[in-house]
Amino acid sequence: MTHVTSGEMHPSRWGDPALAVPLPAPARALVEAVFGIEERPALAEVVLPAPAIDPGLLDEVRAVVGAEHVCTDDATRRLRTRGRSTPDLLRQRAGDLADAPDAVVRPGDHAEVAAVLDWAVAHQVAVVPFGGGTSVTGGLAARRDGFAGLVSLDLGRMRRLLAVDPVSMTATLEPGLRGPEAEALLAAEGLTLGHFPQSFEHASIGGFAATRSSGQSSAGYGRFDALVVGLRVATPRGELRLGAAPMSAAGPDLRQLLLGSEGAFGVITEVTVRVRSLPAEKVYEGWRWASFAEGTTAMRTLAQSGLLPTVLRLSDETETGLDLAHPEDLGAPAEGAGGCLMVTGFEGAPAAVAARRAAVTEVLRGLGGTPLGEEPGRSWAHGRFAAPYLRDALLDVGVLVETLETATFWSQVSRLHAAVREALETALGSPVLVLCHVSHVYETGCSLYFTVAARQGDDPLARWAAAKEAASAAIVAAGATITHHHAVGTDHRPWLRAEIGDLGVSVLRAVKADLDPTGILNPGVLVP
Ligand SMILES: Cc1cc2nc3c(=O)[nH]c(=O)nc-3n(C[C@H](O)[C@H](O)[C@H](O)COP(=O)(O)OP(=O)(O)OC[C@H]3O[C@@H](n4cnc5c(N)ncnc54)[C@H](O)[C@@H]3O)c2cc1C
Repeated sequence: MTHVTSGEMHPSRWGDPALAVPLPAPARALVEAVFGIEERPALAEVVLPAPAIDPGLLDEVRAVVGAEHVCTDDATRRLRTRGRSTPDLLRQRAGDLADAPDAVVRPGDHAEVAAVLDWAVAHQVAVVPFGGGTSVTGGLAARRDGFAGLVSLDLGRMRRLLAVDPVSMTATLEPGLRGPEAEALLAAEGLTLGHFPQSFEHASIGGFAATRSSGQSSAGYGRFDALVVGLRVATPRGELRLGAAPMSAAGPDLRQLLLGSEGAFGVITEVTVRVRSLPAEKVYEGWRWASFAEGTTAMRTLAQSGLLPTVLRLSDETETGLDLAHPEDLGAPAEGAGGCLMVTGFEGAPAAVAARRAAVTEVLRGLGGTPLGEEPGRSWAHGRFAAPYLRDALLDVGVLVETLETATFWSQVSRLHAAVREALETALGSPVLVLCHVSHVYETGCSLYFTVAARQGDDPLARWAAAKEAASAAIVAAGATITHHHAVGTDHRPWLRAEIGDLGVSVLRAVKADLDPTGILNPGVLVP
C-alpha cells in the first residue's frame, strides 16, 4: 500500500488526513479489555505564539528566496513545529506550540540555501533544516534562546532528480524529494533506490541522509548511509562536495561525518546514491519459529552465510500474538497460535529471486522453521505503511503508544531484549504491552525495535519520559547503541556521551565549531 502523497500531513496526526482510520473494532475491543477506553480528543483550536523575529530581517531573506517563499502564517508554521514522535503529537493535540518557528523559509537551490545561511549568521538567527518533518527524536526542536529568531528551512522546493549515471548506477537527488517522489522519478529510468522506512511516504532524501535512516528492505538494499556515494552540503563556512570516487583512501571518509549530522553541521543540498534496476519480481512470505531465540539464530545464520533476503524481520512472541503483520486486524485472534513470525522478502530478477529464495528456504527448514506461505508476507507488505495511522486512533482512546529502537551484537540480543522490556514494564506498571521485532540484520548483530502501549494517565508526557529514561538507561547499561536508525535529535542527546565518550563529544564539538562557528544550525540538536 504505497500512497503517493507529497502533500502536507495533518498537524497533530500522522500522514495524509484523507487516510486517517478509526480504531478497527477488534482493536477497540482489545483496548477496552486491557486498558479501558478513555476518549481523548485533540484540542480543536490552538494558538501559536506570534512570530518573535524583527520583520525587517524577514524582508532581507525575502530578497534572497522570493517573498512567496517566506511564510509566517499559523498553518505553515504549525506544520513545521517539531516532528512526529508520540510526545510531539501529544503536545500538538494539547495545543502546545511553544516551539513553533517564527517563519518558514523555502529556498529553491543550493545557492539560496547558502545565502540564507549567510543571512542567518549575519543576524544570529537559528536555522532548523526541515525535510519531511518525520523526526521522532526531537531533531526539529532546536533551542531558540540567545537567537534573534528561529526559522524552519523547508527544503520542499528542492525536489529534482539532477542526474542519473546508468553505467555507474548512481543518481543525484535534491534533498526535498519525499520517498515516493524519488522512487517515481527513478522508476521512470527503470531504477529504484530501495529505501522504504515506515515513514517513506513523507520523509525526504535529505532527512534520510541527515539521520542515517534504515528502511524495511535494508537486508537487501542496505541502510541509507550505505547507499550514499556523494554529498553536497552548504555550511556557514562554505560548501563541501564529498564523494569523488566509490571508495577512497584519501584520509578519513568525510561523508560519514555529514551522514547523521542532523542539520547541526550543514544543510545537505544534493545526495548521490547507488541505485538498482527496478525489481521484476517481489515475493514476501512468512515463517514461524518456536521462540524468539530460535528465530534470531536463524537470522544470524542467514546473515553470516551471506544469504540475506531483501526483507528480513522477526516479531517476538508478544508482537506475533498481537499480529502486527495485519494492523487492520489488530486484536483479532491470530491464526496458528504461539511462536514468532518471521517475514522474508525477495526482490529482483526472477531467476535471482528463485535462486535466493530456494537457498534461504533450505537454511530455514534445516533450522526448524515452519513455512507459512505467502499470505503473511503479502499482508505485511500491504499494511507496511498503515501502523502509524493506528497510533493516532489509539491516542484518541487514551492509549499511550510509542516506539524505540536500539542495536547490539548477536551474542547480546537476548539479554538486551529482556532488559529493555523489563525496564519499560517496570516504569509503566501494569497494564502494559511491550512488543519487539528484529528490524535490521547484519553479520555481527541486529537492531531491536520496541512498541509500547500503556494507559495515558493524567500526564502522558511525564509517563513516557519516565519509561524512555528507564529504557535508555537499560540500553546504555547493556552496552548497546542509543539509536540504530532514529538518530540523536534532542531526545537521545543526553545519552550520547555514554556511547562515544568525552573525547568523542569533544570531536563532535570541534567539527561543529569549525563548520558552524556561531552555532546557528539546529542549536541543541545532536551535539552534547
Ligand atoms: C511513523 C514513523 C515511522 C518511521 N519509520 C522509520 C523507519 O522505518 N526507519 C527510519 O530510519 N526512520 C523512521 N522514522 C524516523 C524518520 O522518518 C527518519 O528519521 C527520517 O529519516 C527523517 O526524514 P525527514 O525528511 O522527515 O527529516 P526531518 O524530520 O525533517 O528532519 C530530521 C533531522 O534531519 C535534519 N535535516 C532534514 N533535512 C536535512 C537536510 N537536507 N540537511 C541537513 N539536515 C537535515 C533536521 O533538521 C532534523 O534534525 C519514522 C518516523 C515516523 C514518524
